[in-house]
Amino acid sequence: MARLIGPSCKLCRQERMKLFLKGKRCYSEKCALARKDYRPGEHGKVPKKLSAYGLQLREKQKVKKIYGILERQFRKYFVEAKRLKGMTGENLLLLLERRLDNIVFRLGFSLTRASARQLVRHGHFLVNGKKVNIPSYSCKVGDEVSLKASSKEIVGIREAMKLSQDREKVPWLEIDQENFKGKVVRLPKKEEIGLPIQEQLIVEYYSR
Ligand code: SF4
Repeated sequence: MARLIGPSCKLCRQERMKLFLKGKRCYSEKCALARKDYRPGEHGKVPKKLSAYGLQLREKQKVKKIYGILERQFRKYFVEAKRLKGMTGENLLLLLERRLDNIVFRLGFSLTRASARQLVRHGHFLVNGKKVNIPSYSCKVGDEVSLKASSKEIVGIREAMKLSQDREKVPWLEIDQENFKGKVVRLPKKEEIGLPIQEQLIVEYYSR
């Protein structure tokens, strides 16, 4: 299964913004961006003025990094978003938010989308009572995502659940931490996604 590899902090530095790819570390003073707020590489400190194309490209790359998706799959999401009714950019974000690994992350079972993806891959989660080990599985309104009984003692999951209590509430998900489960009560609105994304730039990028 293809996934993004390489140093996560460099990805943030390249975009000059926190993408929260490393869990606890991202909230501490150890965050690389707090110490080196410039692009990686020899000329990283030299200011760079981006063209319109450059801005569109960077926005697309940023969203791919946030959700941990490679180009081929991302383009497929765009094609699907275009096919759906409504605004293509918002449809794209909705499709990404509906991914099972994202929902596991949003429910607080993991500190990053990357670790959520691994947990799903290893079969720790059920959707409506059935094991699903496909991170890109698209959840629907009404779907219940729960942790397998035998996985409830996993230290990493318990720690993530404890730490995620301080995270902002996700209004479109019903979270039941006591019973290790959550439900998609509705689809999110753009402003509830809580990420600084200018989806219109991505639409422009693919519409060139
Ligand atoms: Fe990005 Fe900072 Fe987290 Fe590294 S520690 S992944 S730079 S937010």
